[in-house]
Amino acid sequence: MRVHLVNPSDASFGIGVITPRWLYVLAAATPAEYGDPIITDETLEPFDPNFVQAGDVVGIGIHTGNAYRGLEVGRVARARGAWVIYGGIHATLYPEEAHELGGAHSVVMGDGDVVWKTVVADCGTGTPQRIYQGGRVSADRFLPARWDLTPPKRYMWASVQTIRGCPKHCSFCSVWRTDGQQPRQRSADTVIREIVQLRQLGYRFIALADDNFYPVTRTDLALAERQNNRERLAELQAIRAERFDLMERLAQLPADLVFYTQITMEAAEDEQFLDAMQKAHIKGALVGVEAVTAEGLKSVYKDFNCFGEQLAERLRTFKRHGVHVLGSFIFGLSTDRQDTFEATAALAKEADLTFAQFVTMTPFPGTVDFQRWEENQGETVERIQGVPITRYWLLPTSLRPKLFIPHPTMSPEEIRIRTQGVWDSFYSLPEIWKRSNCVKSLKARLAFLFISKLYRQMYANTGIATDSARRKSANRWARWLAKPCRRLFQGKPMPELAMPGYRQSELITLGP
Ligand code: SF4
Repeated sequence: MRVHLVNPSDASFGIGVITPRWLYVLAAATPAEYGDPIITDETLEPFDPNFVQAGDVVGIGIHTGNAYRGLEVGRVARARGAWVIYGGIHATLYPEEAHELGGAHSVVMGDGDVVWKTVVADCGTGTPQRIYQGGRVSADRFLPARWDLTPPKRYMWASVQTIRGCPKHCSFCSVWRTDGQQPRQRSADTVIREIVQLRQLGYRFIALADDNFYPVTRTDLALAERQNNRERLAELQAIRAERFDLMERLAQLPADLVFYTQITMEAAEDEQFLDAMQKAHIKGALVGVEAVTAEGLKSVYKDFNCFGEQLAERLRTFKRHGVHVLGSFIFGLSTDRQDTFEATAALAKEADLTFAQFVTMTPFPGTVDFQRWEENQGETVERIQGVPITRYWLLPTSLRPKLFIPHPTMSPEEIRIRTQGVWDSFYSLPEIWKRSNCVKSLKARLAFLFISKLYRQMYANTGIATDSARRKSANRWARWLAKPCRRLFQGKPMPELAMPGYRQSELITLGP
């Protein structure tokens, strides 16, 4: 019996931007007696069912964006006689769907780190259970990934998780409901050990794939103090101290490492934290700006963000401290007006953002927005080819509406065109060239230009293009750009690198 792990995608670029971490974590969780799992990341190339034999295990991880393809892979694997197991956020939310439409024998709900070995063993004895409850495992049980199994020269960024969960409750996000609001932090030692292994292999660019890298804000601390809640204050201070400890350890790693993370805008109030990030080689962060108006922020429960005059200044603070910002914005909120698009485009430039993404409002399962939207549809929900639009992920991409929630004053097409316009303006050649002055040499500026164009092709054109011809052409461009871009991210392997504070000979074997 062999174990296969498949990350589904209906677009393969040959080169991946970020390693799908779950594949290599589940590889680590697979008992050694079954050998190394056969891993397929379809963002690199499509799954080949011919490698699957009857009695093999096929594990498929799905989120809403790739569920359609994932269910297809499951049906094919089942037809080959494999045990088909689903996991991931979407399968956790809709386990019955995987059974009814994806040929599942089992669904793992929640974290797979601990329960996966039981699932594989049960398949080995021919007795897989219908549902496994993986729950939320504690941080000391998060498994390090099997980085030794990554295909060489295929990814630009590796991904290491340092914390799961987010204390906020944004209405469009499911993280706080699925991963919980209580942050679960890994020890600095386990994180550093994985990073050392990655640098040994030649990875220089590492995404800290965290829900929120800044789980305790100054406001949280002040509130606990004001309430004289000593227990809470001590708990928050301990979480914060661990973050600083991790950053100190990151700072001791080779200087050519570049980390990137996700963080809330509140970190800009905390210059001590930003300085520690800079020392730790955390050179970039995705910041969810979402909206540029107070009403917009309120509508997505994100009123802890700034707006107006303060907003650009707050975002510029990151860059002053050496942290480049990828600003993320949402269009299609009920509070948006026609001039919101222009105002957002202007703000993105004024705030000195290094990269930006402009997504349209999509109700994702597991979020407050989805729940409200689904309730509002009632019994008379619109159907496309018999599929209710509240199950839009069961439709092929070409049939899905581009926008789901009706806007009070703008049509979906108007929102789509205006959104595309903002992407065009932010990623025009002159604008990218202007922004490229964040790096020094001509070679680095050209690299910046390439990467910006790749980012745009992968995320804007493929995401909001209306027709399949345009999507295909965007994919072709992305594939063409991806190869030379990957080389820019490659480092020379450092097999001799040891954990800071350890000699190579003392180093505990890396990996599982
Ligand atoms: S959007 Fe970010 S800050 Fe908001 S709940 Fe999700 S992870 Fe937390």
